[in-house]
Amino acid sequence: MDTILVVNAGSSSVKFQVYSIEGEGILRRQLKGQMDGIGSRPRLRATGSTGNPLADRAYPIEAVPDVPAAMDIAGAWLRDELRIHPIAVGHRVVHGGPDYDRPIQVDHGVVTRLERFIALAPLHQPHNLAPIRSILANFPQLPQVACFDTAFHRTHSPVADHYAIPHQLYAEGVRRYGFHGLSYEYIAKTLPRVAPKIANGRVIVAHLGSGASMCALSAGRSVESTMGFTALDGLPMGTRPGQIDPGVVLYLISEKGMSASNIQNFLYRDCGLKGLSGVSNDMRELESSEDPRARLAIEYFNYRIGLNAGMLAAALQGLDAFVFTAGIGENSATIRAHVVGQLAWLGVTLDPALNSRNAQLISGSDSRIPVYVVPTDEELMIAQHTVSLLMKTASTNQRQERAS
Ligand code: AMP
Repeated sequence: MDTILVVNAGSSSVKFQVYSIEGEGILRRQLKGQMDGIGSRPRLRATGSTGNPLADRAYPIEAVPDVPAAMDIAGAWLRDELRIHPIAVGHRVVHGGPDYDRPIQVDHGVVTRLERFIALAPLHQPHNLAPIRSILANFPQLPQVACFDTAFHRTHSPVADHYAIPHQLYAEGVRRYGFHGLSYEYIAKTLPRVAPKIANGRVIVAHLGSGASMCALSAGRSVESTMGFTALDGLPMGTRPGQIDPGVVLYLISEKGMSASNIQNFLYRDCGLKGLSGVSNDMRELESSEDPRARLAIEYFNYRIGLNAGMLAAALQGLDAFVFTAGIGENSATIRAHVVGQLAWLGVTLDPALNSRNAQLISGSDSRIPVYVVPTDEELMIAQHTVSLLMKTASTNQRQERAS
């Protein structure tokens, strides 16, 4: 059976999934796993298609010092113990820069071009590229496909793509890219089935997880996003502040003497729900906390989602549906109820019973706009892109052989 390996590598973990190809473009998830605690307390965990445990192993810290080592161990486990030999690997790569508006098959030249975007996503891009390089070195014949978080947003108009800064910086790549594109693409592809009447209309999708952003979809295409040059902008997140006056950064430099790397750590790791609450970056913990600062952090989160919804509705010049997705959006009835409360001025109402069941359609029967909960699946999107690129390459090769 042919399989595809999907890899999502971060700074301290490598997540992976294996899909079998069953017929023309039909994919079935066979297993998911992750090697986490890289460089601290490495652990390989994996479950099969029904959630059955397949592995749970700890490793000494020196055995898994970095992402390539984690990839080696996970790869050896898949090959040697499960006899899985994927025909291709799809990778999540956070930044495709200004040019890559779709997934691409990777070779050394592409890796070199993607390295240029490390400066645009210093905490993600190097880790995304590490397993690609290690597979290129060890399995040079194995096709690899890079799928970008930015690609889905490359349809933005010039006015949505710019900051009001001198043009030279735009030319260098300082643009409003937007992220979580694989999640939004999955939702855009799923909407015609879930809600055929509105799939072609104006839809706001709220991807609310540890990272959080919102996207304005017009006829399934992204026209605006709350995120910009980096994944720091827009909504408050688990540990990132979301929109913040750049003057705050100047204050941190001039009054607090913070260096660029201190500020980078501060903005990516110490702000957001964690910084504001002083309790946790995890929404479940905040929801069960009695601490008034935890309440404030949740209120701030809901309030900013409401504000940003107004902004995106203006970009769309109206609204036909609102969609919740990702960890918080799919699971927290309380947050959804508060966000819908923020949308009351648009005539949006909630059906509390449907909302508490995490139903697909949670708006009240009198709501002017339907509200949906649609679980996202970025890994499936990567697997689908990988298979379709493989098929396209195979048919191009066949055509060329016939022509020669
Ligand atoms: P993600 O990054 O999409 O995995 O989402 C992670 C976030 O979802 C964390 O803040 C979790 O606390 C939150 N989350 C997951 N399940 C729930 C739940 N049942 N209620 C509230 N928040 C949840």
